[in-house]
Amino acid sequence: MIDINQVSKWYGAFQVLTDCTTRIRKGEVVVVCGPSGSGKSTLIKCVNALEPFQQGSITVDGASVGDPKIDLNRLRSRVGMVFQHFELFPHLSIEQNLSIAQVKVLKRSSSEARTRSMALLERVGMKAHSHKFPSQLSGGQQQRVAIARALAMDPIAMLFDEPTSALDPEMVNEVLDVMVQLACEGMTMMCVTHEMGFARKVASRVIFMDRGSIVEDCPKEEFFGNAAARSDRAQQFLSKIL
Ligand code: ADP
Ligand code: MG
Repeated sequence: MIDINQVSKWYGAFQVLTDCTTRIRKGEVVVVCGPSGSGKSTLIKCVNALEPFQQGSITVDGASVGDPKIDLNRLRSRVGMVFQHFELFPHLSIEQNLSIAQVKVLKRSSSEARTRSMALLERVGMKAHSHKFPSQLSGGQQQRVAIARALAMDPIAMLFDEPTSALDPEMVNEVLDVMVQLACEGMTMMCVTHEMGFARKVASRVIFMDRGSIVEDCPKEEFFGNAAARSDRAQQFLSKIL
């Protein structure tokens, strides 16, 4: 589904990604972790072309992301993205936040879009808030709306970049619950997160990044189970967060 092949990227003279290769198959949930500044956000932004890269290739469902002719609206609707800071449209109601791109990008009628939006809001427990504006919601509620908004485009995969790290602790679980539910329904997911409880519960694989490189990429059981096989850097990192 997502094929990342020997991707390298520079910001000026600074190499932020070095030869990153991994493949995410349909239905897999891959958790990406690693120290701050290791390139996690940059790597997932490359997947939906929010950042260009200079070497290597990325394909999403067979379409090459680096191809200048790629339809970016289509790519970004096919690959939903959820950020740390929700980034809802502040001037639109919750329902409109979900409906606008369905109408503008997918060309759904407004009533069709609204029906889909309400069904998704129900799924993330936010239907009763559909008329409100983002500023009237808690962080956890806004993040659940952001997830529903991405799902409204019927994505084939979802990318998450630390979706719970800006939340107050009591709101983390309501967002993780939605993510767990998605994972259990078979959504293909690439999640940057340090929520190792989530990783243990639903990850197929865990990727550990350090200084722009993928240092480990292994099944969850191996990542958590076999301390002896872990790289020193992954071991150090895990000892700090577990
Ligand atoms: P992570 O998400 O793992 O914390 P990032 O992908 O955000 O890491 O950043 C990786 C490195 O790239 C960091 O050293 C960061 O300072 C640098 N970086 C990120 N964005 C830019 C940018 N727009 N210009 C220059 N350097 C950047
Ligand atoms: Mg980041």
